Amino acid sequence: IDDPRFVLQTRDLTRQFDGFFALRKVNFRLARDSVHAVIGPNGAGKTTLFNLLTKHLAPSEGAILHDGEDVTRLKMPAMAKRGVVRSFQISAVFAGLTVQENVEVALLRGSGLAWNLLGRISKQSGVAERAAALLRRFGLAEHAETMAGNLSYGRKRVLELATTLALEPKVLLLDEPMAGLGREDIGRVTALIQQARRGRTVLLVEHNMNVVAELADRITVMVRGEIAAEGSYAEVAANPAVITAYTGR
Ligand code: ADP
Repeated sequence: IDDPRFVLQTRDLTRQFDGFFALRKVNFRLARDSVHAVIGPNGAGKTTLFNLLTKHLAPSEGAILHDGEDVTRLKMPAMAKRGVVRSFQISAVFAGLTVQENVEVALLRGSGLAWNLLGRISKQSGVAERAAALLRRFGLAEHAETMAGNLSYGRKRVLELATTLALEPKVLLLDEPMAGLGREDIGRVTALIQQARRGRTVLLVEHNMNVVAELADRITVMVRGEIAAEGSYAEVAANPAVITAYTGR
């Protein structure tokens, strides 16, 4: 199971809720430097798998390995230190701070500094310049002084991604990054993920099949708590078990 090609692996990962198996003996592997999408019908266990990998949930049984080491019992901050980071919930964008300040906070958090020193430190340590550079990269420069709370929903998502990437994760875990976005913002966030993937591994749970087809090198299809199929988009789209799961036929 300790295969260096895979940055994250699960071994018989299982999660029950009151005797109901949301996830049953799942052996999932995330290849290094890939973009990997997890798809499947509602209730398939995608979110449960994601929350186990991001340490929002503890497994009932089984193990999680990162870089070949058993990290089953590690908590989220320890994973972040190892470079495994999930996108923040949109609520973690501070509405009362400007866009620039939000990215500065993220950069300071990433460097482990208490951010009540934000103003002073960011002036001294080049954080302001780094934040500005990130904002330029993300097309948010013109909104640097905007209160984050006043951004459109789509731009908040872009800011969320910018604050996550400020931590320079090696493994980026994204939970439905396109949810609630319009076509234009989907295009923008897709391009950002394409850009962000360089030198990293990206795992996303995503419903939008166009996005999955465009972004993912590899796809895992979950059905009723188990892996029903795995492969490229073309491979899983042609898989009878997948067609049955989605159409009932
Ligand atoms: P998906 O993300 O693929 O829609 P989930 O992982 O959210 O699926 O859920 C898988 C199954 O586990 C569902 O049947 C769901 O009702 C159940 N489940 C998920 N979380 C809980 C929970 N906290 N308590 C009870 N049942 C849960």
